[in-house]
Amino acid sequence: MSRRQDQESPPLVWAVICLTMLALALALSIVLLTPWTSPSDAWNSDRLLAQYFTPEQVQRSEDFHDAVKWSSWLRLLTDIVLAAVVGFSPMGRRLVDVVRARQWRWGVQVVILVALVSVVVRLLTLPFSAWGHRVASDYGLATQTWGEWVVDLLKSFGITVLLSSLALVALVGLARRFSRTWFIPAAGVAAAAAVTVSFAYPILIEPVFNSFTALSEDRLKQQLLDLAERDRVEVSEVLVADASRRTTALNAYVSGFGGTKRIVVYDTLVESAPDPEISLVVAHELGHADADDVLIGTGQAAIGSALGVVALFAVLRWEWLRRPLRVGSAADPAVVPIVMALSVLAGFASAPVVNTVSRQVETRADLHSLELTRDRDTFIDVHRRLAVTNLSHLEPNPWLNFWFNSHPPTLDRIAAAEAWRDTHDADSSTDG
Ligand SMILES: [Zn+2]
Repeated sequence: MSRRQDQESPPLVWAVICLTMLALALALSIVLLTPWTSPSDAWNSDRLLAQYFTPEQVQRSEDFHDAVKWSSWLRLLTDIVLAAVVGFSPMGRRLVDVVRARQWRWGVQVVILVALVSVVVRLLTLPFSAWGHRVASDYGLATQTWGEWVVDLLKSFGITVLLSSLALVALVGLARRFSRTWFIPAAGVAAAAAVTVSFAYPILIEPVFNSFTALSEDRLKQQLLDLAERDRVEVSEVLVADASRRTTALNAYVSGFGGTKRIVVYDTLVESAPDPEISLVVAHELGHADADDVLIGTGQAAIGSALGVVALFAVLRWEWLRRPLRVGSAADPAVVPIVMALSVLAGFASAPVVNTVSRQVETRADLHSLELTRDRDTFIDVHRRLAVTNLSHLEPNPWLNFWFNSHPPTLDRIAAAEAWRDTHDADSSTDG
């Protein structure tokens, strides 16, 4: 063994130990904290479709998804292929050379490279995003003019470049400071950053896209607060987001944790749904708040981020991976395209795990809304309304559902509500 390898092997051993421990911690937290109730499988989908949706509604959902699917697929494909080309082929080196040719400081080089890669990827995927927006507008789902759409696009682009720049400056900076053991401080920083972003998201990022107001209707507000009290869930506020400036879709969500935990309801829902349906949606969100789903998700994201950093340290030791861009190590700003490419691939590869956990968590929140409201009919009504208004895919391909959907399909949710009624009725008959 050469002296050089001898010097380098201990950090690799530590990295492998860290990687194993983090992977175990993540796997354990997923196995132990995910509510693994078996989601109701809508095996009798034909009956459910016929019972709850008109043939026109089913057809319209199919038409919309037929029209929109190519833009989504091509955008995803372009994203992945571009990431690979920029990160792992000599074409990425041209970008790197443009930046290297100037005698900028390393931090400036990192930021310029992040911006350059992001601009290239965004410009080449833009036609597909625009196509998707066009289809959504044709179906009345998107309400933004092209001007407003571009403004949103620029805002989210700016935020992405800002956050990616911060992350990569930190990474390269730590690699320059701790050339052999940078993965240890970098993993800590990544985990802390995941927690910070999740906590600050409702205060700093959400207001960039929407404005939030307190519920103006006193009667509804009181109903929702009563519901939260009955549920013994502490929520700081129930806010209405002006989603209608962008979409006709109906939605609600819970975000933040600790002092920033709040329930947000779209104005589209408040304005179109009857009060019992709004209560039911809020009961679902209370389910998330009650189970601390945001906090648990944030903790898992923190472990996942640390894991990603240590994995990056390990794969960057492969010389063949660094060769196309002539990158020496993570201390070299030219590592930026490789890291960005790896994160796109990691996002795609981890989607089925993230979404499987999410669907289970959603199933638990659905059950919570049924238990809290004891109102199966309203549950079914609101999920019909959501599916019809949001043009949800009523019969998604099972594999695509497995990989990409964060929520269970509508028919599964309705089937679960029907099954819940059955067990509940059975319970009451044995009680009574
Ligand atoms: Zn939910």
